[in-house]
Amino acid sequence: MSLVVFLPLVVWVVLGFFAPTVLADVILPVPESVIASLGLVTLIAGFFRQWQWLYWCAWTAGFYALIQLGLQQPLSQQHVSVLYEALPVWLSLTALLLVFIKLPVLLSPRGFLLLAAVGLSPLLLLTAPVAAALAILNPTEMLSLSGELPGIGLALWMIAMGGIWATVLLYKNASAFRWSQLVAWLSFMIFVVGIEQTDASTWAVLAISGGLLLALADRMLKLAYIDELTGLPQRRALMSELQHLRKRSAVCMLDVDHFKKFNDRYGHEVGDQVLRLLGSILKSVSGFKAYRYGGEEFTLVFSHNNEEKLKDVLETVRSKVANYPLTLRDPSRPETSGKGKEKRGKQSNKKTVKVTISLGATTKLPTDTPDSILKRADENLYAAKKAGRNRVVLKN
Ligand code: GH3
Ligand code: MG
Ligand code: MG
Repeated sequence: MSLVVFLPLVVWVVLGFFAPTVLADVILPVPESVIASLGLVTLIAGFFRQWQWLYWCAWTAGFYALIQLGLQQPLSQQHVSVLYEALPVWLSLTALLLVFIKLPVLLSPRGFLLLAAVGLSPLLLLTAPVAAALAILNPTEMLSLSGELPGIGLALWMIAMGGIWATVLLYKNASAFRWSQLVAWLSFMIFVVGIEQTDASTWAVLAISGGLLLALADRMLKLAYIDELTGLPQRRALMSELQHLRKRSAVCMLDVDHFKKFNDRYGHEVGDQVLRLLGSILKSVSGFKAYRYGGEEFTLVFSHNNEEKLKDVLETVRSKVANYPLTLRDPSRPETSGKGKEKRGKQSNKKTVKVTISLGATTKLPTDTPDSILKRADENLYAAKKAGRNRVVLKN
């Protein structure tokens, strides 16, 4: 889903390389289209208090201004060739810095200072000494071996750095915003490496804005629908799913047993760890979609009503939870909480505990509404609790 942020970039590159006439026929008002697209991202990000996006808008605007001022209305021929060598270095260094440093809150003196630095620093390349100093690091020379194929050296560098960056993001299962940062860097690099239309930098900025906007939409959706603690979709998402429940389907309510006592004994933070763990167990079992209904209650939605299969899967979930040893720090001192109670290792003052869950499931009847099916599942959950907990009750 996060990779959707690549879409505008892919469209631009495909059109730019394979159907350049399509792009050439679109007359872009410059720089109005850039101001409009980056302005839109800035406005929406500001409205939703997603300040991190603004740093990337400033970064993009800064480099766009540099390209317009330095490359398209050249100062001197020699300076332009130095700029072409320094630009990829500066693009990469500043992008990596922005990715790695911990960004301050924007609405603070440090935040404003950094924003101004990010937006204005590309313009430093317009001063000949800075450009010349960065050009010494010229990757084109380094990678093109003989120096005769500058384009290839640069492309190699882009592929190598982009490849490593993408691998890290994939490995970390990064957010759409993280991917949109790669898109921003890649868009400008592709401009530098290969697309020689004068409009290309404007298209690059449109691709970046599109990516940032999609990442912003993804973030807002997650904020609205995903529960932070467990990473599962929450009740709002469940209610919308239940509106479109298939004819053959089933629903299960799941509740942690004696959780109040557990919290009282080990502390609320350890209780939260249990919920997080439960979230990851529910994600690891296939055959249903899991939601956090609220508190320590979860809802599972199945897209079939085969009772044998339902029982199998529910039993798997129940036993996986019941048999999972949760390692705690010495329970006699729960108040010195801190982090890492679940971590394994140093066995000395650790103790393992287990929690159990009860499950109440039901299959969909033709007359069911979202409320009625949830209510029946809840009654079955109550029956499971009454029958002694740590069990599954499935009936209509
Ligand atoms: P039963 O077996 O009947 O379900 O007993 P119970 O104690 O689990 O039931 P009850 O519904 O009375 O208690 C639910 C407890 O769950 C109350 C609250 O302390 C705890 N709880 C709810 N949400 C959270 C949460 O987000 N984090 C933590 N740590 N505890 C929570
Ligand atoms: Mg409960
Ligand atoms: Mg409970």
